[in-house]
Amino acid sequence: MSVLASGSKGNCTVISGAGTSILVDCGMSCREILRRMAMVGEDPAKLDAIVVTHEHIDHVAGLAVMARRLKIPVFFTEATHRAWERMTRPRQTMTYKQWLEKVQREKQERAEAATSGSGLGGEESLAKSSFIEAEPSVIDLAACDPATNDSADQNEKRDPAFLPAVEYFQAGKPFQIGGIEVNPFTIPHDAADPCGFVFHAGSESIRMAVATDLGYIPPNVKLALRSVDVLLLESNHDLEMLKDGPYPWSVKQRVLSRVGHLSNDAAAEFLQRDYDGGAHTIVLGHLSESNNLPELAKMSAERALGDRLRLLGNRVLLAQQEAPIEPICL
Ligand SMILES: [Zn+2]
Ligand SMILES: [Zn+2]
Repeated sequence: MSVLASGSKGNCTVISGAGTSILVDCGMSCREILRRMAMVGEDPAKLDAIVVTHEHIDHVAGLAVMARRLKIPVFFTEATHRAWERMTRPRQTMTYKQWLEKVQREKQERAEAATSGSGLGGEESLAKSSFIEAEPSVIDLAACDPATNDSADQNEKRDPAFLPAVEYFQAGKPFQIGGIEVNPFTIPHDAADPCGFVFHAGSESIRMAVATDLGYIPPNVKLALRSVDVLLLESNHDLEMLKDGPYPWSVKQRVLSRVGHLSNDAAAEFLQRDYDGGAHTIVLGHLSESNNLPELAKMSAERALGDRLRLLGNRVLLAQQEAPIEPICL
């Protein structure tokens, strides 16, 4: 596991094993992700797929450009994909005059098609013209990343939500990407259909989990996180710092809610009461820059682990926003 970035400004993690490499989320620009991969010796050419936890911008900012550039499939739940498309495609609004012109144009095209040939042609031209109308305005991809411009075909230029391939999964139903079995589980968070993942490299019997962006840890997540070897767990905020901190009250409410983010205390409570103690490494992630201190998060987790810290590994690391951390290799 290589955590390239973790926090509200961008999230991205590489999971590799059994000859397969997966990128979990793409919350930074394509260029920045590639730069950080190079820093930790990860080869982008080896990536087989991208899996997306949820559609918040800190998890998808570089998604389309990255997927196109590497020509790899993106795995979403259907609801997350739809939500991502909605926010990626600029909304089209039409004046009444434009709408009237559009209707007139379509009517004329239908009439022309009907007189020039078969009824089928009319259907076709109708479908085609409404398809073109429904397309979003042209976005110049060169503005996102000049390197993609050469290979960008018409689809990519026309549609900012264009992806080379999309695969759907459902929470609770494991699926396979190359040699890695992916087990998605539902997490409580204010997105369309947010998921955490356990990645199981079957041939190596190693399990790595990503569980960030969750308001609390419900029973299904506790169950999913049993017997993992590496756990990336959210430790977002210190409750006191959040309460006294700079956020407006509405944002504080959101973070604290059951669909917000996990506090140091909540992460510690899980580690103390429910965690089975078998992990080699626990990485604390998605730390708030305004409402947490790395030392506080680490101290709180280590205190919760108590004696198990020495006995069974359970090394505690801190993921960072600004730089990748040393890859965790088992
Ligand atoms: Zn996030
Ligand atoms: Zn989120």
